[in-house]
Formats: sequence, structure tokens, C-alpha cells
Amino acid sequence: TVPGVTDVRLAMTAERRALRILAIASGKGGVGKSTLSANLAVALHRLGIRVGLVDADIYGPSQAKLMDSEDQKPVARDKKLVPVTGTLGIPMLSMAHLVEPGKALAWRGPMAGNALSQLIDAHWGDAELLVVDMPPGTGDIQLSMVQKHKPAGAVIVSTPQDLALIDATRAVSLFNQAGVPMVGLVENMAGYACPHCGEVSDPFGQGGAESTAGDLSMPFLGRIPLAIDIRSRSDAGDPPAAGEGPHAGAFHAIARKVAD
Ligand code: ADP
Repeated sequence: TVPGVTDVRLAMTAERRALRILAIASGKGGVGKSTLSANLAVALHRLGIRVGLVDADIYGPSQAKLMDSEDQKPVARDKKLVPVTGTLGIPMLSMAHLVEPGKALAWRGPMAGNALSQLIDAHWGDAELLVVDMPPGTGDIQLSMVQKHKPAGAVIVSTPQDLALIDATRAVSLFNQAGVPMVGLVENMAGYACPHCGEVSDPFGQGGAESTAGDLSMPFLGRIPLAIDIRSRSDAGDPPAAGEGPHAGAFHAIARKVAD
């Protein structure tokens, strides 16, 4: 059984309100939203901000792997979950900690919404900012997230590709309608540096996200290149932002803008 997850008598405490939520969203999947969420949490932590990390991607959780906490199981205390500890000691919760690995979740919207509430209304201790890796798109969970949990702000991730940008625009409109302030747009997979010859090419086009941010009157927070190192470190549960490698700086620059 899943500890506490089906308990719908969730206490809506004042404690939750004190914790500000930063939603990391994208219009479509596979654009690097989870990668950015993990690295942003790590980079904000390194700036001295007390962060927690929630993997709200209920149907495709990936934060346990990204933050090297796959073998941990959260316990429930007073009907609330106690977060596990990820990279650099960052408290975190993901559906991946609660369900068997590889097992598909066949939940309908309301159940998924309850599960999300259990992850957010947990014992976050003295955390001041909850980085929430949202599911892709603009469905039920996203709606319940913005309506029920009122994020203090949202960061949108997109690749430079036209289609991803159209979807990103849709995600922006979901937050705008709910009155959630836009922190800004991040362009991921922007330019590929060939590890052999060093030539930089742009498989998904160039500059699209920055101009879309301008069109939507929202800040452009920066670019993350498409890099083998980012993928391999992510797969190994060692987010680049936790180290001093070539791509750490890009994540730290974005974190500084988000923290401002
Ligand atoms: P999403 O959360 O939007 O579905 P992920 O963060 O899971 O996307 O990323 C999808 C895949 O792309 C993962 O394998 C991830 O390691 C890889 N990836 C994400 N961003 C980059 C990047 N900048 N460079 C290389 N690989 C990346």
C-alpha cells in the first residue's frame, strides 16, 4: 500500500501557505523540465535558499533518479509524508518513492490530484521554497496545482523548436488565467556542441524562445545547451549544477535570476 496517499482528509494548514511554491512547467514532455527542476533546486540550494523539491509528474516521475534518492522510502507522520533526502541533502518527494519502479499508475484525475496534495502538504520543515516539477501539458493536475496550491511563480521550459514554443505559450496562458506570476522562460537544448570538432549546431533552431518570451512580455532567464554531459550526469543522479563542470554555470545563472 501507499502510505497516506489515499487519505483525502488532508489538513490544509497554515504551514503550507508559508512555503512558497515555484512551479516548473512546460507545454510538452521531453523538453528538459525535470532536468531543469533538479538543477534549479540544487543551484538555489547552493545560493543559500532552503529549498524542497516535489516531483508532481505523477505519471512519469523522474526526480528520484535525477536526485539520487531511488532507494529511499518516505514515512508518514501525523498523516503527512516526511520527505526523503536527495542530492546535497535537499528534502524531496516524488511518486517514484511511493510506487513500485516501472509500475504504471492508472489513476483518474481526482486521485492524482490527491496524491499531488500529499506530496505538497508534507513535513517540509524549515524549507522556504518548494520547487515543483509539474507534469507536461495543461490538464487536470496542472489545473488543480494552480488553483489549489497557488504557486508564487512559474518558470516555463521550452526547446527552441516552434511546436514546443506554441505549447509553452499554452502553459503560460494556464498560469496567467490563474493569476500566477511568470518568473520567466528557459530555453533548453539550445545549440549542440560537437564533442569531437567543437562545432556548435542548432538542431532545434535558434533564438525562438527568447523572442517568444518577448512576445509574451515575460523575462528570458537563459539557455542550457544540449550536451551529452548533462544527460549522462542526470542519468547518474549527479545534477551538473551540484558540481563545477562546464554546464553548472548556466544553471547557476538562471538560479540567480529566479532568486532575484
Ligand atoms: P521533461 O521533464 O521535460 O520530460 P527531461 O528533463 O526528463 O524532460 O529530459 C528528457 C531527456 O532529455 C532526459 O534524458 C534528459 O537527460 C535529456 N536532457 C534534458 N536536457 C538536456 C540537455 N540540456 N542536454 C542533454 N540532454 C538533456
